[in-house]
Amino acid sequence: MAGVSSLAFYIHVPFCNSLCRFCEYTRVRSGNEAQESRYADLLARQIESWRAAHPYSLVHGLDVGGGTPTALNPRAFARVMKMAAELFREGRASDFEPSVEFSYDTITAEKMAAIGDAGFTRASTGLQVVDKRFLSEMERASPALERMLSVNAGLKAAGVVKLNLDIMYGFAGQTGKSFGATLHALEILRPEQVTLYEVRYNMNALAHAGVTRESNYTLYSHLYDSLVSMGYRARFGQNAFSRVDDEGVSSYLRHRMFDGIPYKGFGISAQSMSPVGLAYNSLKKYSGECLPEIAEIVEQDIYRLPGEELAAKYVAVALYGGRFKLSVVTNFLGADARAHFAPELDFLVSGGYLSVDDSGECRVTRKGFREYGAIAALFWSDAHKRRWLAWKEGA
Ligand code: SF4
Repeated sequence: MAGVSSLAFYIHVPFCNSLCRFCEYTRVRSGNEAQESRYADLLARQIESWRAAHPYSLVHGLDVGGGTPTALNPRAFARVMKMAAELFREGRASDFEPSVEFSYDTITAEKMAAIGDAGFTRASTGLQVVDKRFLSEMERASPALERMLSVNAGLKAAGVVKLNLDIMYGFAGQTGKSFGATLHALEILRPEQVTLYEVRYNMNALAHAGVTRESNYTLYSHLYDSLVSMGYRARFGQNAFSRVDDEGVSSYLRHRMFDGIPYKGFGISAQSMSPVGLAYNSLKKYSGECLPEIAEIVEQDIYRLPGEELAAKYVAVALYGGRFKLSVVTNFLGADARAHFAPELDFLVSGGYLSVDDSGECRVTRKGFREYGAIAALFWSDAHKRRWLAWKEGA
């Protein structure tokens, strides 16, 4: 991050009450106060030593995620909120909007007050509410609707302006019908934003259970039409929906995903990206009952990457939102993206998979969304494409 003065932050809190079966995040069972306070100490040390070595002047966003940050005991949670607030005390961008993840079964009035006191204006949680059979199969708790309404009101009273609810789709056996109760709950809860997450962690395994790219496309289409009929806006293919005047994501995600700005992650497994590469902190992908004894959290897996690889990663991540900017690709490449990817862009635009406006913003079309993984692959580096083709020919 040497020389980076304008960036976004992420803080990872790995603790969760229950460890859901489908989850691919780094998580640790909550409930052990000493362990949680040790984690807060580790975080404080990592943030302090990083700040001492990396002066910065402009913060575009800060997300506290997990895990479930509110699964921490109240004292440790308040400490994390304070550490986060220190990171953005000065130099906030005009559209800065800090966001924290919570769960309805772990948040309390005390934690809501800590969120408000720290200046967080967005809060986000998962909503897979009403399909009890699904929830119990996934070893996930199901809060009552009344409890959700009261927590939402409490968060708003504490200073949160926008609430986001995540809906996951693409599990085995899910149909449009299975979302009836969840969509009904959404109508009652009326969050400002809704995010759809497609389960993609193991498409090969899911294929045996009847989940295919096409079945997920059908589910997405159903959810898209339902959300639009409720007054939410999004371009088809985008995973974030909003009923207020924004793009449905936190400022951390917006700048990270679409503007390709550098970001620094704190906490175990958190990812950071600088103009020259990627790094992951200690304990990447860890999942377990206890936090392992580590003396400090450090950047452990460090990848210095050529511009072509950083550009490919940027396009793949931005496509979650259904769009990417050629100006950002140009910055990563150090060469004009329109010229570098001329055949790819020509194929995608003439085939009706992508539209490109005068500013160089590329948007996936309805047709393109069916194949968005393949669109991302067209922006891989030449070396990566050659390796993949050689592997396919040998397979
Ligand atoms: S609560 Fe969320 S982060 Fe924790 S295990 Fe479940 S899905 Fe993963």
